[in-house]
Amino acid sequence: MKVKFWGVRGSYPVPGISTNKYGGNTPCIEVRLNNGQLIIIDAGTGIRMLGQELINNGFGSGKGRADILISHTHWDHIQGFPFFKPLFIDGNQFTIHARPSNHLHLKEIISYQNKDCYLPIPFNAVKANLDFVEIDADQKFRIGDAVVKTFKLNHPNIAIGYRIEADGKVFAVVSDTAPFENVLIGEQFIPKPPSTLTEEEERTLGELQFKLNSVLEDVDFMVYDTFFQVNEYVKNPHWGHSTPEHGIDLCLESGVPRMALFHHAPGNTDEILDGMQNYYRLKSKETHVEVIVAREGEEIIL
Ligand SMILES: [Zn+2]
Ligand SMILES: [Zn+2]
Repeated sequence: MKVKFWGVRGSYPVPGISTNKYGGNTPCIEVRLNNGQLIIIDAGTGIRMLGQELINNGFGSGKGRADILISHTHWDHIQGFPFFKPLFIDGNQFTIHARPSNHLHLKEIISYQNKDCYLPIPFNAVKANLDFVEIDADQKFRIGDAVVKTFKLNHPNIAIGYRIEADGKVFAVVSDTAPFENVLIGEQFIPKPPSTLTEEEERTLGELQFKLNSVLEDVDFMVYDTFFQVNEYVKNPHWGHSTPEHGIDLCLESGVPRMALFHHAPGNTDEILDGMQNYYRLKSKETHVEVIVAREGEEIIL
């Protein structure tokens, strides 16, 4: 199994000279099985460049097929979709899996980006065959030769994590999420974190943490939301993002040997991310958890 990063940035794209090395595109990860099967995680602006490459590999002649797993439909995770070229070629087939909102079906959520107030290209210009599959947490399903498990994350309006097992390896994407400790985030945006948790909230957080630890138990490589540094997280635990320290704790608890810091904050320049890479490389000598900073274009072979 191969994992390739096409977009690693959280919140909004940040092109420019200070982000050239790690990249400024919003989330998109290519998962390529040994038999060539393609699974795409998220459709942030990184999916545009992936689309260019796919056009040269079967999708240009309408023979492409892929599944797209969306962590959640906040804009940074779907905003590249209208610019994904293989959609406009007859014969290509995409199955889009995501959790709908309480008010809108998945197809509406995705296609609303093409409404004429936002974009000149209507959604019916899409020529590929699209299947929309509405999913939720705690599901297990098969996509070709891969077995996918979904789990709930701690993020406003709820995000879904994915565990993908194929080729004798296990890969997990845990983004976007806050750790399950200070605040339980649900469908609503919470303007500020509560000073105390109710017993029920504590119980639910404990259950979610238990499920997350179990689902990650035999994971070989995890991609984790590290939008915050610890001092930033403590001010805004209700935003639904984590820190590298939380990721390392999770790896130690669940026995995950390797993780990538991901969903970088827009303000994290190459210089800052280089500093983080050096710091966490040293730290891994104590923890024995290998930590890399996800970088656009980087491929990890599992
Ligand atoms: Zn995000
Ligand atoms: Zn989000």
